[in-house]
Amino acid sequence: MLTLPEFEWVRPATLDALLAHLADHGADTLVVAGGTDAVPNLKHRLHEPRYLVHLGGVAELGFVRNEPDALHMGPLVPLSRIASEPRIRTDFPSLAKAAGLVAGPQLRNMGTIGGNLCLDTRCTYYNQTLFWRQALGFCLKKSGTVCHVVPNGKRCVAAHASDVAPVLISLGAEVEIANRAGRRVIPVADFFVADGIHNNVLEPGDLVTRISVPAAARGMRAGYQKLRPRAAIDFPMLSVAFAARLGNGVCEDARLVVSSIAAKPRTISGVEAIVRGKPLDETVAQALAAAAHQQCHPLINVAYDQEYRREMVPVYVRRAVREAAGVES
Ligand SMILES: Cc1cc2nc3c(=O)[nH]c(=O)nc-3n(C[C@H](O)[C@H](O)[C@H](O)COP(=O)(O)OP(=O)(O)OC[C@H]3O[C@@H](n4cnc5c(N)ncnc54)[C@H](O)[C@@H]3O)c2cc1C
Ligand code: SF4
Repeated sequence: MLTLPEFEWVRPATLDALLAHLADHGADTLVVAGGTDAVPNLKHRLHEPRYLVHLGGVAELGFVRNEPDALHMGPLVPLSRIASEPRIRTDFPSLAKAAGLVAGPQLRNMGTIGGNLCLDTRCTYYNQTLFWRQALGFCLKKSGTVCHVVPNGKRCVAAHASDVAPVLISLGAEVEIANRAGRRVIPVADFFVADGIHNNVLEPGDLVTRISVPAAARGMRAGYQKLRPRAAIDFPMLSVAFAARLGNGVCEDARLVVSSIAAKPRTISGVEAIVRGKPLDETVAQALAAAAHQQCHPLINVAYDQEYRREMVPVYVRRAVREAAGVES
């Protein structure tokens, strides 16, 4: 049986109390929202914090506000609510779809959008028990000195595994980060860094306090496609988010994001040149698929064949573009 390590349980009732705790003990604290990823990781001794701070008592982090400038979501909003909220389904269908494809129903009821954005990276050699990892000699991400995926590598290349993050990037969403000193807002596209040991810009003491999708994304044509072994529950082994703005039947701009292959989602370059002034048709879908195929190189960081995942990149890009265009694939 896998047990939890010892920790001190802290359950603040206000954001101020929470940020005060993080200011004093951020480096020794694991923040837990729904706990659907953090708790299994604790049982695997991937985290051994002195304090476990549960966000569940901070009611002010659980809002959804559909306002003229943006859809604003508190980090504690459950994924099941994001998936089912009528205005989100109407205005941002790819966001509702991605949230509805995370794990299974129970996990979407517990799992939050903030936890999904801040989800730890995943790797075959990391998401294992302490006994398993010890037998292997650990790895760079925790307690070891080598990477088993890239043996001479200096950085962890564990896979970013959040379904919602690539969609947020495709829609130009922003994230608010707070600490006791103040708040800052950055694009979700700048939230991630290419190191799987800690793949986002959060520092000890920081907390995600809001995720906002701009009103400008409301009219975008968007799609989200996810490849996973079992459609009922698994993490993605490849995910593709696409969003395009159309005017007079042709594309004005677009974003294409491929994820679950490296430590941060990859925004495909050259997309604007491919789509600008063109209808969202099969020729554009093929050109975007070719660009993504050229730029994406999955590694054996998750337990699925890397060549297969690479060959699925253009397939899933075409499907996402067709979905955005409203064409059956
Ligand atoms: C069987 C199984 C299948 C799964 N399948 C998927 C899947 O298909 N797709 C997917 O995306 N996920 C999947 N997950 C992972 C997880 O369930 C979801 O990502 C969920 O959204 C995590 O949210 P949470 O609130 O439970 O996060 P938690 O587990 O509470 O936290 C996750 C991480 O986020 C940090 N965190 C949480 N909130 C904040 C905040 N406000 N500010 C800063 N840091 C914060 C925590 O410290 C922790 O590091 C799966 C999990 C399981 C067990
Ligand atoms: S990619 Fe390498 S360093 Fe990162 S978790 Fe996997 S084996 Fe460890």
